Amino acid sequence: MIQAKGYAAKNAKAPLAPFTFERREPKENDVAIDIKFCGICHSDIHQVREEWGRSAFPMVPGHEIAGTVSSVGAKVTKFKVGDRVGVGCMVDSCRHCEPCEQHLEQYCKEGMTGTYNSLERGTKIPTQGGYSDKIVVDKNFVLKIPANLPLDGAAPLLCAGITLYSPLKHWKAGPGKKVAIIGLGGLGHMGVKLAHALGADVTVLSHSSKKHDDAKRLGADHYFATSETETFKTLNSTFDLIINTVSAPLDWNQYLSLLKLDGSMVVLGIPDKPIPVGAFSLIGGRRSLSGSLIGGIKETQEMLDFCGKHGVTCDIEVIPAQKINEAYERVIKSDVRYRFVIDISTL
Ligand code: NAP
Ligand code: ZN
Repeated sequence: MIQAKGYAAKNAKAPLAPFTFERREPKENDVAIDIKFCGICHSDIHQVREEWGRSAFPMVPGHEIAGTVSSVGAKVTKFKVGDRVGVGCMVDSCRHCEPCEQHLEQYCKEGMTGTYNSLERGTKIPTQGGYSDKIVVDKNFVLKIPANLPLDGAAPLLCAGITLYSPLKHWKAGPGKKVAIIGLGGLGHMGVKLAHALGADVTVLSHSSKKHDDAKRLGADHYFATSETETFKTLNSTFDLIINTVSAPLDWNQYLSLLKLDGSMVVLGIPDKPIPVGAFSLIGGRRSLSGSLIGGIKETQEMLDFCGKHGVTCDIEVIPAQKINEAYERVIKSDVRYRFVIDISTL
């Protein structure tokens, strides 16, 4: 076994604290990785605090992992020692169901194996995430990080980046399309950068006016504060696509009214309560309400290569591991510009 150290939550009420544990001995198809940076996703906080139902503890969160390869198994040819690599939200899937065969492992019929708060297939050993110095991952779930992207700014692409790229591509964001992003946080700011790079006309819908200048700098064409009632009148029937990254309660019917004929609103944020939607909000304007979960491995590599080509990375604040609990509080208060990334050398 490989000795690893990290930060873990011992239970849903406890702050994260230093923790030592074991990683599996690498098998023939495995890649062993020295983790350099790991982003803090709001999903880490939801799971540590059991906001989505029961979690498994102790939990080492983290699914925005960037590092370098320290060793590879006998059957690994795609990666070599020293390669710059990433790991996102999943580390395995059944690999034979219809979604898996279509490179959509995140929708695996048996359920994808999460990078943490999940059980390894076969052994049923709990998986542990990237707030740690080492990880061992099957080669099919390891991504290559383009040479021109810094590892710290690239780490959050592994969740925030792909979670926005996938729906933007699926719903064909591009020239001539009006796209709105609700919530300028970790996911939202990547939505702005990626939709802009794809050539769409991008609007940010933020709950205050505070992030106006940032939104413009990130590539937004328009910015509206949703605290202003005028916003919903001005933007009535405007957008082809609205991507909602917020997990706080919203007036969904009000946001649906901003879609033009045949427009789609895509749910990314995960509130702890069911979504209240009136039928008229959908049938008037033949509107759709859909959801999207991260992205498959093939598309994640495509997104990383796209970011390499366009020089897109995340806006980050790098923190030492000792500040994780403080960072959680700041994420909850929307006081992050725009992703915390843990410098793993500080563990
Ligand atoms: P985040 O950085 O905390 O961003 C959320 C944003 O929501 C905030 O920056 C803020 O933007 C807005 N917001 C916060 N409180 C609000 C309130 N009371 N009213 C209205 N807006 C509010 O979180 P994140 O890491 O981007 O994650 C967002 C959500 O997506 C989480 O629920 C996470 O679990 C989920 N997620 C889903 C997937 C997926 O595959 N679908 C993947 C990763 C994460 P403004 O200040 O601009 O309003
Ligand atoms: Zn995430």
